[in-house]
Amino acid sequence: MGTTRNRQIEILFSGEPSFRARQAQEALFSPVFRSWDDVSSLPKSLRERLTDAIPWNRFVPVSVLGNARRDTWKALLQAEDGARIEAVLMRNSRGQFTVCVSTQVGCAMGCAFCATGRLGMTRNLAADEIVDQVRFFREYVTDNSLDGEVTNVVLMGMGEPLANYEEVREALLVLVGPMSVGPTRITVSTVGILPGLGRLLDDPEWPPVRLAISLHCADEERRRKMMPSTAPGFLDELARWSDAYTKAFPEKRRHLTLEYVMLSGVNDTDRDLRNLAKLARRMGRVRVNLIPYNATGSGFVGSPFETISRFRDGLAREGVTVTVRKSLGGDIAAACGQLAGKTVRKEEES
Ligand code: SF4
Repeated sequence: MGTTRNRQIEILFSGEPSFRARQAQEALFSPVFRSWDDVSSLPKSLRERLTDAIPWNRFVPVSVLGNARRDTWKALLQAEDGARIEAVLMRNSRGQFTVCVSTQVGCAMGCAFCATGRLGMTRNLAADEIVDQVRFFREYVTDNSLDGEVTNVVLMGMGEPLANYEEVREALLVLVGPMSVGPTRITVSTVGILPGLGRLLDDPEWPPVRLAISLHCADEERRRKMMPSTAPGFLDELARWSDAYTKAFPEKRRHLTLEYVMLSGVNDTDRDLRNLAKLARRMGRVRVNLIPYNATGSGFVGSPFETISRFRDGLAREGVTVTVRKSLGGDIAAACGQLAGKTVRKEEES
């Protein structure tokens, strides 16, 4: 792991009373400050040292693009080394905001239907960089009078979270700690990296956040064509892991979600429905979330509305708890699978 910002502050303030470092660390999560210079409880000399040494946010916004309905905003953010990632802010009908964060620059998983997968992988994001996407949008909501607050965080942007396990865990601990986001309001979405899934079962530091498995096909061979990261025996292993997960975390709120993007003629036949229902029943305490597909230039076509409805009703008849995701942000390429780090239009600029 890289040097965290907290550690940098401690090093910078060595020789100062310890409460000074704490003041600086806490200031980062205050809703009122926008720079080190605003933290007037710190002496001016310390504020100047912080300003020179530690950026207030690990990212500089290149652009923020909002859609016409004003329920989705996509930010192109640039890190200190020039790497660019995207983060997305979404508002639900109750006026609550969810931030979708990236966990890597690009992604090595190569899912055939995903724009990020075509970029390849550049590097992992540090925990501070994951957290700073949420901090950026929290400030954005207030500064643009968007009326509401960020209550939820999903790790569903660019990258595979469990391929960046330590930094993601560190970021989650900050989100549930100093940032006060409830653990059940945080969802980590993974293609199902089996070593990572196994590891979190025995990890006392992994916070009780929600998990979503990007399944997308319950036939192993065909899933491998869509998602080349699919390990041999994946579906059997997933069912076994799910059993262990349910035993380790019996609380109802720790249910698993199976994400299933609906692709016309690829994974939306009656046979696919039966395979999915069978796997869901085998896994036990799961919910299926059907996702309408957003164009990514991959050649895949989303299933029509009638097919999605048929899938939903069929799964419900089989006793599976199922929802259909309301897809936000498709009009600004901010929806699932569309993030590619190249937002260019500057409709709203920070
Ligand atoms: S869907 Fe997720 S895991 Fe797959 S390539 Fe895209 S970002 Fe990576």
